[in-house]
Amino acid sequence: MLNFSFQNTTQIIFGEGQIAALKKQIPSDAKVLMTYGSGSIKSNGVYDQVTAALSEHTFFEFSGIEPNPSYDTLMKAQDIIKENNINFILAVGGGSVVDGSKFIAAAALFEGQDPWDIVSKQVSIEKALPLACVLTLPATGSESNTGAVVTRDGNKLPFASPLVRPIFAVLDPAVTLSLSDRQISNGVVDAFVHTMEQYLTYSVNGKVQDRFAEGLLLTLIEEGPKALAAATSKDLEVRGNIMWAATMALNGLIGAGVPQDWATHMIGHELTGTHGIDHARTLSIVLPAVMKVCKEAKREKLLQYAERIWNVTEGDEETRINRGIELTEQFFEMMQVPTRLSHVDLGEADIDLLIEKLTQHGMVKLGEHKAVTPDVSRQILMTAL
Ligand code: NAP
Ligand code: FE
Repeated sequence: MLNFSFQNTTQIIFGEGQIAALKKQIPSDAKVLMTYGSGSIKSNGVYDQVTAALSEHTFFEFSGIEPNPSYDTLMKAQDIIKENNINFILAVGGGSVVDGSKFIAAAALFEGQDPWDIVSKQVSIEKALPLACVLTLPATGSESNTGAVVTRDGNKLPFASPLVRPIFAVLDPAVTLSLSDRQISNGVVDAFVHTMEQYLTYSVNGKVQDRFAEGLLLTLIEEGPKALAAATSKDLEVRGNIMWAATMALNGLIGAGVPQDWATHMIGHELTGTHGIDHARTLSIVLPAVMKVCKEAKREKLLQYAERIWNVTEGDEETRINRGIELTEQFFEMMQVPTRLSHVDLGEADIDLLIEKLTQHGMVKLGEHKAVTPDVSRQILMTAL
């Protein structure tokens, strides 16, 4: 195992009816800005639950944070914050609302010239407004991690700081019942790929992390399809297990002391930034190709993955590895997400621009060995055709 320092300070408040806990969780004298998206929380009752819990607080609202939140939208929150001396942000929504609110919290106290520098130049922030969230879409892990992704003019870029890690996150599986099948699938696949980015690298004897990761992968493989099947889709145990698995997949625990990849995510960000494809749907296209192109570097882990996750024990090494990749693709197909660029109407002619943008964004040494150069990314995208 590699050396590590692990601390996750987000308090998780899990279970049905827990939105009511906001009343006591947020300091009574706080001036709260409640941030949300395009209105799903108004039609599924979450807005009513949150505002009822905040009835004794002073709070303001900022809505319209879109999927893959944009810098321009997020900057509009700054006036409300200044005018009303906001000192607490409550994000209510999915990963986009939580990520966007992290940027809002950081930008509010940024002392440099342009808050976009936080993402484009990775300028580290010294302060941020305190932030908490009510999660409505299990997927990103943003509810208890330090990361966020923001888009400006087709450039989708990440930043991270412990200062924007939510203080607490309310996880009520019942609020996920209003999600469309597409968003359920996206969430399960995003969490699956987060786990793979931290698991499918090379062995450093991180047995605990491996077993945690394998537990998450198996849970998502078992529960994901149930959340789509008519007979079990409304089962709160299914929803709860998916929700907790998605949080655990990217709260820092399974990545502590092990190498991490993230090439799939960085290549996927270009597909979203350029073509607007849902985040998870870029990952289901890119991951199988990464597994194929980076097979040698990941050999040992691919064999372990095939055996422990898919019970593949027969045949020579090559056969077992290929079977593991094939079963991964079949799982994605079962989750109704694309596994090829052609499934989203992209072809070879689109690859040059994606490589150009990866290069422009400094994504030129990706992966656990920093060996995924633009040439290798090109091979990955060609393999994904
Ligand atoms: P999302 O973009 O937050 O939400 C997708 C859609 O689902 C929105 O239209 C939203 O509607 C709707 N929705 C959310 N909750 C709902 C509910 N309970 N019922 C009905 N509809 C609901 O999706 P996401 O997958 O959670 O987030 C994706 C973003 O997170 C991407 O930008 C991705 O790059 C980023 N990400 C971040 C991390 C991280 O560590 N921070 C990791 C991976 C990905 P409303 O607009 O009405 O709310
Ligand atoms: Fe992701």
